[in-house]
Amino acid sequence: MSDSVISLKDIHFSYGQKEVLNNINLSIKPGAFMGMVGPNGGGKTTLIKIILGLLKPDSGSISILNEPIDSFKNWNRIGFVSQKASSFNKGFPATVYEVVSMGLTAKVGYFKFFSKKDKEKVMEALQLVDMQDYAHHNIGQLSGGQQQRVFIARSLVADPELLILDEPTVGVDYDNVRRFYELLYRLNKEKNLSLLLVTHDTGAMTKYVTDVICLNKTLHFHGKSEEYTSLSEQDLSKIYGHPVQIVVHDH
Ligand code: ADP
Repeated sequence: MSDSVISLKDIHFSYGQKEVLNNINLSIKPGAFMGMVGPNGGGKTTLIKIILGLLKPDSGSISILNEPIDSFKNWNRIGFVSQKASSFNKGFPATVYEVVSMGLTAKVGYFKFFSKKDKEKVMEALQLVDMQDYAHHNIGQLSGGQQQRVFIARSLVADPELLILDEPTVGVDYDNVRRFYELLYRLNKEKNLSLLLVTHDTGAMTKYVTDVICLNKTLHFHGKSEEYTSLSEQDLSKIYGHPVQIVVHDH
């Protein structure tokens, strides 16, 4: 079997009578930074839930880190950050340090004490996302963009091989979105972390990702970032079912 972080073969999925995914074939190679785009209701979240084992497809097969999903147990090797991550209210009683330590409980266990090495891991993860100076701040008092970085740190502390991010930049302003993509780009290059990023951003992300898939019930596009940027606006409009303007921002 070829080496892949995620491999999906002939996946079909319906909610009752409503078909949402039709014949999805997808392979994410180690070290890839894949952007997933597509219209609202195109099935992106459903596909993520299938990859995370939260929904079972009607047919097809799934391998995670070269193992069939049914026997796969090492879920701490797959990190997940959802768009709802940054919704702590101001009074939430946990520090940044505590939130990131929660990422270790899968490994360490709830009732064990953290070792000195674990504490160092938490600080290292905070350094990777440039939030080390906020370790003792209350999570609820940070901006949405800062909270997102803390959630990435919480995933990184368990040393995942793949990080899946579901529209993590919703409600984050343009400068912070760019910083966020740069952070992901750096983690991908420096730590060889494989990434699957679900995003509404059809333009700016192409500067950072290596591969793009475009999902609207089926995979309408699956290729390298450069091939995606060479699609015409007409090609994209067909996929989206409405006119799409590509805005590529320089950084
Ligand atoms: P996306 O993430 O691309 O916006 P979703 O995977 O959330 O797409 O949704 C795909 C389709 O499935 C949509 O038409 C949505 O209304 C429908 N859907 C999503 N979740 C459910 C559910 N739990 N029950 C029934 N239909 C659902």
